[in-house]
Amino acid sequence: MKTKIINARIFTPIEILDNHDIIIEDGKILAVTPRDNDLVHKFSDVTVINAAGFLVTPGLIDIHIHGCMGGDTMDASLQTLETMSLFMIRHGVTSFYATTVTNPAEKIDQALDIILNSQGKLPGANAVGVHIEGPYINAMYKGAQNPAFLRTPQEEEYTKWIDKNIVRMITVAPELEGSDDLIQYCIQRKVAIAIGHSGASYEQVTHASDLGASQATHLFNGMLGLHHRELGTAGAVLCDERLYAQIIADGIHLHPAIIKLIIKAKGIDRVILITDAMRATGLPDGEYDLGGQLVHVANGTARIANGSLAGSTLTLDQAIRNTMEFTGLPFQSVLEMASSVPAKAMGITETKGFIRSGNDADLTFFDPNYQVKATMIAGELKYKDKSFGG
Ligand SMILES: [Zn+2]
Repeated sequence: MKTKIINARIFTPIEILDNHDIIIEDGKILAVTPRDNDLVHKFSDVTVINAAGFLVTPGLIDIHIHGCMGGDTMDASLQTLETMSLFMIRHGVTSFYATTVTNPAEKIDQALDIILNSQGKLPGANAVGVHIEGPYINAMYKGAQNPAFLRTPQEEEYTKWIDKNIVRMITVAPELEGSDDLIQYCIQRKVAIAIGHSGASYEQVTHASDLGASQATHLFNGMLGLHHRELGTAGAVLCDERLYAQIIADGIHLHPAIIKLIIKAKGIDRVILITDAMRATGLPDGEYDLGGQLVHVANGTARIANGSLAGSTLTLDQAIRNTMEFTGLPFQSVLEMASSVPAKAMGITETKGFIRSGNDADLTFFDPNYQVKATMIAGELKYKDKSFGG
């Protein structure tokens, strides 16, 4: 049984293809071929999706999301993951890295076990891995992470987490004692290291990068800022070409103009749009919990009592639209930062992040105003707006 998507404008995303068809079989992209009206007759059993007027892109990838629709990764609940999964496909996300927060080890254990258990079972976007954000972070740059549970890297803890084979990234403040060992261990085990919630100096960031750290968690937020004689964590991340920078493009965490500056400094192939979304995402303003701390959400901005930002209520499709508005960059370039670039940073390009033969048929359909109208996971349309004929 094959599926053929016709009449769409295809963003691979490195190329824009008109007059091409996408042929899908067994959940994977079999071919992207110049339009061949006869092809339909070459195979028996072809389902045709007419996507005329729509832009087809690789499914979006959110590598840093805590929760949405009232649920959070730390709930350690399959039902919560299902809710998150269904919300995310409405926003074009097909893969996400469920992100934990600073908590006691056993709470993080429970969250990992549930995400492992969810593999192959979620109704929408897939939780392809876990991003452990905290507890190995600097108290001075904790943001809204719960200070009661901060600690230096504990080998018996993180080796156990990594042994579960679902952790794909750990955020760490590299200036903490024991961080070098953690970084080296993670690199060996193919777990990405993101520098974050950190006061690391230029030298400390460079050292972490030398050891294999490859990302920075929400650049500028939760880290020592830039000074022209003391580059600090943020300055070092901007300068180090090896590091991918995650950014929260909600217009609150970063001034729109700094997003322009970050992209100029890093280049599109080193910037990753994330949501850092928390459980209020998709819900009205009010009071919510984040890692055991009370969060007030007003006008979509989430803060704990001391005023620190506590994640966002952003969605990844909105992050794309915001970034286009803030920078004037075209859809194609901004799209890369939410698809192919995160796939590269996480080492999953053989299956995700690109529309090309052999990759998973995880696709997002946008209308010309960049609104998500349908989302496909492994060849199946899992979300479809009524305006999407298909
Ligand atoms: Zn976060």
